[in-house]
Amino acid sequence: MKSLALTTDYATSRGDATPYLRRIAAAGFTHVHWCHEWNTDYEYAPAEIDALQKCFIECGLKLLDLHGSAGHKHRWFAPAETERRAGVALVQNRIEMTARLGGQSVVMHAHSDFLDPLRRSLDELQPFARQRGIRIAIENTEETNHFTTPRQLLSEYPPEFLGLCYDSGHGNMGDRHGLDELETLTDRLIALHLHDNDGTGDQHKLMFTGTVDWSRLAKLIARSSYRGCVSSESNNHNNGLTDETEFLSQAFAAGHRFAALIAAS
Ligand SMILES: [Zn+2]
Repeated sequence: MKSLALTTDYATSRGDATPYLRRIAAAGFTHVHWCHEWNTDYEYAPAEIDALQKCFIECGLKLLDLHGSAGHKHRWFAPAETERRAGVALVQNRIEMTARLGGQSVVMHAHSDFLDPLRRSLDELQPFARQRGIRIAIENTEETNHFTTPRQLLSEYPPEFLGLCYDSGHGNMGDRHGLDELETLTDRLIALHLHDNDGTGDQHKLMFTGTVDWSRLAKLIARSSYRGCVSSESNNHNNGLTDETEFLSQAFAAGHRFAALIAAS
């Protein structure tokens, strides 16, 4: 069976993730995208990371990558220096956690209004991340100009440090030109957030249930620099599925269907 990842926050993004890790593993997934506490100031203590590592081993799960956090007071893009430094420390916490749990990259959102503080933070994070063998993946967000900032930053920092996380749902919103943008950046692709929508909102639906052009995306991934497995960021809030086991089983089937599409491309 091929490797397949699901986001840990398919039901909730707060608190103890271990019950979800167990259910994700039981559904047959081999990997997770860690998405708990992705937008809070929460810092993972070394003892908690140790406990999580044990849970991963017990479940037979692996960490693929992790969604780093820009919290409320600890924001890596903040113009105010105290807040920004706390934000850098928070990203460092997630880099350490990712390295410890065997993941490859930390996904971050970049904010177009705060490019200069963001550059200062990236300059500080680059040696820290490279020493630990972790790359930062800048995600295309649901903003109107959702590729402008990632494209700019990718042009300024080397591929050994900075890559792209392609979010298929965000790429299908607004002008819906996400795939055109991705086509010119496939050599920097290092992470995937795969989910679907009908173009009117960030619905995080299961793959193949909205209007994303999955066959074109499969072709772009097949010829890209991405070397990880298919990674779903769908959640069970907008799928009309109240039964968690049913959601997990449908997410698993959709992931395998997309992996087969990439293999055939
Ligand atoms: Zn995403």
